[in-house]
Amino acid sequence: MISKPAEILVLTPASEALIKGCARLGPCLRATRAEVLAGRVEGLAAVRAVAAWDVVVDGALFERLPALELVANQGVGYDKVDVAAATARGIAVTHTPDVLTDEVADFTLGLLIMTIRRLGEAERFLRAGRWEAGPFPLSHTLRGRRVGILGTGRIGKAVATRLEGFGVSLAYSGRRPQPDLAYPYFPDARQLAGAVDTLISILPGGAETRRLVDAEVLAALGADGVFVNVGRGSTVDEAALATALRTGVIAAAGLDVFEHEPHVGPELLELENAVLMPHVASATVHTRAAMSKLVVDNIAVWLADGRALTPTPETRAGLPVR
Ligand code: NDP
Repeated sequence: MISKPAEILVLTPASEALIKGCARLGPCLRATRAEVLAGRVEGLAAVRAVAAWDVVVDGALFERLPALELVANQGVGYDKVDVAAATARGIAVTHTPDVLTDEVADFTLGLLIMTIRRLGEAERFLRAGRWEAGPFPLSHTLRGRRVGILGTGRIGKAVATRLEGFGVSLAYSGRRPQPDLAYPYFPDARQLAGAVDTLISILPGGAETRRLVDAEVLAALGADGVFVNVGRGSTVDEAALATALRTGVIAAAGLDVFEHEPHVGPELLELENAVLMPHVASATVHTRAAMSKLVVDNIAVWLADGRALTPTPETRAGLPVR
């Protein structure tokens, strides 16, 4: 029996759901990016679709995949995929919007409250047996806060909706005002930070947003300021943030994303007023399964009739979507 050559490559590490889902579609290769680049994987010539989660997918990889038509990225953020290189080669890119929005918004509220009410610190205090020596110190409050949302897309809007229930005031910033949002709009991060005391950033990564939150933005947020980042680590000047937290320029920060993940530097690790999370905003069994399913569905539809279910905006604009 002659078996069909593999049309799908799953870049590893990948979830079981993604691996099994792709395998159900037909013959599948599995390899790390390094193995592909080192020429250690046979049968790549027929690969039409790559499934990728948190892996750099760029021109070097495309060189090894002459028949590639689709990069199906697991995650709504696709800054590790070189979309320009893909588009130049006529390769479509899909991502996983919407299916994670509520999960990430829930997490963002949790991180915000954890940061303001010092929940991690309070639990460490109890576990260390320090309660018997006296009560935990008083924390900051969400009461009366003015919250600014930087990056008011799908997730930013879901965060805002939840925050309305907490009775805080809201404002936002983005590249343009959005007619469906009634909150005050500020054209840039610094102006938004100057008008609020709590800044929640849910920006995509990439060159345009690199270090958008810098020392000036943090200074504008002020000494009672709380900064929460659930977007991408690259959007923040991390050294400036550590300095601002250490010197009282702002009060506290809650971070799910970092500039050099999974490495987090000592300048942040040693700060009690920073709540640090290992990029887990969408990390539930339910939502990761939904994300993997959407990757697999994109590949299935593409291989069957050359359509993308959830193309990135660049692919939608740059390729004839069949
Ligand atoms: P959307 O594309 O719906 O929203 C992105 C928002 O960012 C838009 O409102 C856009 O506004 C704004 N934006 C884009 N570029 C700029 C810029 N240069 N300056 C100011 N604002 C900008 O994406 P989602 O809400 O679905 O996801 C947002 C990001 O969250 C993802 O790209 C990902 O990086 C991150 N994320 C992180 C997760 C985690 O685990 N921590 C999980 C899921 C997502 P406009 O176009 O109007 O300027």
